[in-house]
Amino acid sequence: MRASEEEIQELATALGEKFTTDETTIRPYMRDQSWMVPEGTPIGAVFAQSAQDVSTALKWANAHKVPVSVRTGGSGLAGGAVSYADGLIISLDKMNRILEINPENSYAIVEPGIINEEFNRQLGLEGYFFAPDPASASIATIGGNIATNAGGLRAVSYGVTIDWVKGLEVVLADGRIIHTGSKTIKNVSSLNLTQLFVGSEGTLGVVTQATVKIERLPEHEPYTFLASFDSIEDAGYATIAMRDSDNRPVSLELIDAFTVDLVNKRHPDMQVPQPGAALLLGQTLGENAEEQANTMAELCKEFGASETHVEKGNDLLAVRRDAYPALQDAGMPVIGDVSVPIASLAEVIQGIEELSQKYNRRVAIIGHAGDGNLHPIVQCGEGLEESAAAEALLDEIVKMAIEPGGVISGEHGIGYLKRHDLPEMLSQDVIDVQRSIKNALDPNNILTPGRKVY
Ligand SMILES: Cc1cc2nc3c(=O)[nH]c(=O)nc-3n(C[C@H](O)[C@H](O)[C@H](O)COP(=O)(O)OP(=O)(O)OC[C@H]3O[C@@H](n4cnc5c(N)ncnc54)[C@H](O)[C@@H]3O)c2cc1C
Repeated sequence: MRASEEEIQELATALGEKFTTDETTIRPYMRDQSWMVPEGTPIGAVFAQSAQDVSTALKWANAHKVPVSVRTGGSGLAGGAVSYADGLIISLDKMNRILEINPENSYAIVEPGIINEEFNRQLGLEGYFFAPDPASASIATIGGNIATNAGGLRAVSYGVTIDWVKGLEVVLADGRIIHTGSKTIKNVSSLNLTQLFVGSEGTLGVVTQATVKIERLPEHEPYTFLASFDSIEDAGYATIAMRDSDNRPVSLELIDAFTVDLVNKRHPDMQVPQPGAALLLGQTLGENAEEQANTMAELCKEFGASETHVEKGNDLLAVRRDAYPALQDAGMPVIGDVSVPIASLAEVIQGIEELSQKYNRRVAIIGHAGDGNLHPIVQCGEGLEESAAAEALLDEIVKMAIEPGGVISGEHGIGYLKRHDLPEMLSQDVIDVQRSIKNALDPNNILTPGRKVY
C-alpha cells in the first residue's frame, strides 16, 4: 500500500533536502544498466550523506512497509537497483569520500560512493592499489562492487571483491547501524558477517562504509598479449592450458570476432587485429612480465592461434572494457554471466554456439575466460516479445552451463533478472536457509524485495 502524503511528509521533515519527490531528479536513479524497466514510479529518493540518514530512511520505510531499492553507481546488470512502484530509492552516490589510507596496516576506509577507478587513482598516488577491477571501473562504485561481489579483469590472480573486504558498516532494515569485521590481518571473533553482506545485493542491509585491503603497486610495468583464433573453442582450450601453467597471467579475457569488429568501428584509433573467431587478451606482471607474455603467446600458437602480439602497458585492455558498451549500442543488451569449472570452458562455449544456431539468434561471447566466467550476449530487437525470446535463449544457456557444475551468475549477481533460474541450481534446503537469514534481518521484507533471495 502506498505511504500516505502525511507519512511521506514525515520523511521529508526528517531528511530535509536529502529527500526529494522531484520526478526529473529521480528518473536516472530508477534504472541500472540492465534491460529491466522500473517496476513502477517510486514515491521519492533519499540522497544519503551519512549512515544516520540511511538509518532514518530505513526506520521510516520499515514502519510503513515501503519497498526500498538501493543504488550507488547504477552500473548493475541484474536489475537489482531498479525502482519499485510506490517504493523508496536510497542512493549512496553522494557518500563518496576516502576516509583513510593506511599503508602500514594495508587497508583503506571508504564510503560506498567512491568510483572504483577514482579510488585506484588516489591509491596510486601513494603507491598502492585495490585489485577488484570490473570492466565498469570508471562508473561502478566500491559500495556496488561490495554489494555484488564484483569480479573483473584481475581476478585470475587477485580474486574477487570478497577477498579484499575486511570490514563493513551496514545499516539494517530496522535502522540499526552495525560494524562487522576488523582492521586486523586475522579475525575469527564472530560469525563472518562481513562475507554474508558481500554479494547480498541490497537485500540484507545497506553498506555505508567499508574497510578494504590495499596492496603495494607492482614495481614493473605490465605486458599485454593478444592472440587471434579462427575457432572460439580453441581459444577456450588455450585458456585452460594457460590457467594450468606456471606462467598463469593476471588477466585472461575472451572477446569474440563480432564484438572486436564493433569495438574497432567505435574506435578507429584502436584497430585491434580482427580475429577469425575470437581474441584472447591477457596480461602478465612482475620482473619477468615480458618473457611470460611471450611464453603465453607461444602457448596460444600451439593451441591454434593464427596471430599473436605482445606489448608493454595497459592500453590494449581498452578493447575489453569497451566490449559490452559496444554491444549495448548495437542493440544487444541481454547479457548472461555463467561461470563454469575451468576445464569445461571450451565445451560450454561450443554449447552456446550450438544453442545460438538452434534458435537462429546471434549470441556474442565475451568474458573473463581465465576465471571460467562467460558473458553470452543475446541479440534482441525492440519490444517485449523480442526480449522474452532473448531471455528464453539465455535460460537455455544457463541450464547447459549448470550441467558440468557451473553457476547462474559469476559476478553480476542475481537481482531480479536471474532470480527465476535459481531453482535450477539451489536445493530447497539452501533456499530455505537463505530465506531464514533474510527473514531474520528484514522481517518486513522491505529491502530489495523479490530479488536475489529466492
Ligand atoms: C560496461 C559494463 C561492464 C561491466 N563489467 C563488469 C565486470 O567486469 N565485473 C563485474 O563484476 N561487474 C561488471 N559490471 C556490472 C556492474 O558494474 C557491477 O555489478 C558493479 O559492481 C555495480 O556497482 P554499482 O556501484 O554500479 O552498483 P549498483 O548498480 O548501484 O547496484 C548493484 C547492486 O548492488 C546493490 N547496492 C548498491 N549499492 C549498495 C550499498 N551501498 N549497499 C547495499 N547494496 C547496494 C543494489 O541494490 C544492486 O542490487 C559491468 C557493467 C557494465 C555496464
